[in-house]
Amino acid sequence: MDDGFSYDQALMEAERCLLCHEPPCSKGCPAKTDPGTFIRKFRMRNVTGAIRTIKENNILGGACGVLCPTCRLCEKECSATGIDKPIRIGKIQRFLIEHSWQVGFKTFDNPMSTDPGRQAEKIAIIGAGPAGLSCAAELAKSGYSVTIFEEREEAGGVLRYGVPSFRFSRSFLKNDLRDLEDLGVKIKCSSAIQKKGDVEKLLEQGFNAVFIGVGLWAPISLKKVPEDDSNIFSSVRFLETFRQEKFKELEKVCRGKIVAVIGGGSVAMDCARVALKLGAKDVNLIYRRSYSQMPAEPDEKIEALEEGIHFILLNQPTDYCRDSKGKLKGINLIRTRLAGADSKSGGSAAARGSGRRKPVEIPGSEWVMECDTAIEAIGNKAAADSGDWYPSVSVNSEMLVQADKETGQTNMEGIFAGGDIVRGPGTVVQAVADGKTAAKSIIGWLEKKRLKPAGYVSSRKEKKV
Ligand SMILES: Cc1cc2nc3c(=O)[nH]c(=O)nc-3n(C[C@H](O)[C@H](O)[C@H](O)COP(=O)(O)OP(=O)(O)OC[C@H]3O[C@@H](n4cnc5c(N)ncnc54)[C@H](O)[C@@H]3O)c2cc1C
Ligand code: SF4
Repeated sequence: MDDGFSYDQALMEAERCLLCHEPPCSKGCPAKTDPGTFIRKFRMRNVTGAIRTIKENNILGGACGVLCPTCRLCEKECSATGIDKPIRIGKIQRFLIEHSWQVGFKTFDNPMSTDPGRQAEKIAIIGAGPAGLSCAAELAKSGYSVTIFEEREEAGGVLRYGVPSFRFSRSFLKNDLRDLEDLGVKIKCSSAIQKKGDVEKLLEQGFNAVFIGVGLWAPISLKKVPEDDSNIFSSVRFLETFRQEKFKELEKVCRGKIVAVIGGGSVAMDCARVALKLGAKDVNLIYRRSYSQMPAEPDEKIEALEEGIHFILLNQPTDYCRDSKGKLKGINLIRTRLAGADSKSGGSAAARGSGRRKPVEIPGSEWVMECDTAIEAIGNKAAADSGDWYPSVSVNSEMLVQADKETGQTNMEGIFAGGDIVRGPGTVVQAVADGKTAAKSIIGWLEKKRLKPAGYVSSRKEKKV
């Protein structure tokens, strides 16, 4: 992972800020981390105040400082753009959080609310990814008793089991989790909520509200291949194995080998870079559209190219090619050309296009690209059986939970949801924002319930009386 700013570098960058009256950068942040305020405080040398602004607004402020695609969020709105380069908000944010560790400053030393009514109310969070962690932090800050149920051995979701270590140090996660601990949040790992109706059962077991933040962990595949095929990996399996530091297992299929990565997004770039770091002879990234249409961030593409990854553009993989013993030896490709833009609206999300020019296969242009290992990074989806975990909650045809955008409320009273399982593949800061939104709604909903007179059943019945 690259070095962050030093104190002087961060301050020099903050000194470039134009101190706008209504900072547009703050409006550009989905999680309302409020860079306008923390940069202003930092400039006035109120360092702890700046750290407090970040952490109180965004429990994953450190992770976001490293991972946010700032060029299309806060920094895109920066007023300095046009006069000069935008202020590097993400890097200042990251510096402030790293500085807080160095000086041992803890934002949440004391419980922020000790309302006994709230402490008696229990909220269950399913999934310890960014959405769940952020929802938990907001609720705990307001004095509620929060338990997170996490399927995996450790908390963090994609931050722990997806994003590679050379892009994101686990120190951020470790410290953010410590802050949650300071807030009194209980995290139960290796505790999947996955049996039929498990989510609704939590309400019967005494939890007053539930938040679903289970993310997307089922890989989308080119062709049906066995989960444990030794030479064809899903991006989930490949990156999770890398994050678990099972390097020997991956080196066997990467060192000195030709590795093909299918996909053109950020996850494909991560997989390709990991394969190269594990000693691959050649890493060929195959994408069916052109360079400018790749969904990966511009700097990720440049870094991948600079590291020596080859981009095989305008090619559509159609199948795998194996030898007589069934071992992978190549990928069947067909060349494509770009036709008109596909439609962004109408129909199901699966049928909808992205508004980009559509790749059309060129008949007769089939060819085989040699490879020893293939990694599919063409997207993740909700687990096929996830609807069974919460059978009374509405899901769409892609098993994404249907929740109100403004509140995170599902069709089931007391059940809220957010993050990737609602919006589809997104970003860390969007998941944080969803967690915060849902927490606010949960608090409002519980407060309203608490104020209802005894014997109250529902507003509809009340009207009839
Ligand atoms: C490889 C990769 C790289 C990425 N890089 C970036 C980046 O650089 N910047 C960025 O902003 N975004 C990035 N993203 C996207 C970002 O990580 C996600 O949008 C974000 O993590 C979504 O958060 P979430 O909480 O909704 O889900 P997740 O992070 O997926 O967390 C969900 C959690 O729920 C748990 N869970 C699942 N089912 C159950 C169950 N039944 N019971 C209990 N627990 C369960 C999972 O184990 C997991 O811990 C990346 C994604 C990937 C895959
Ligand atoms: S959380 Fe991300 S988008 Fe928001 S201000 Fe910080 S770096 Fe920018």
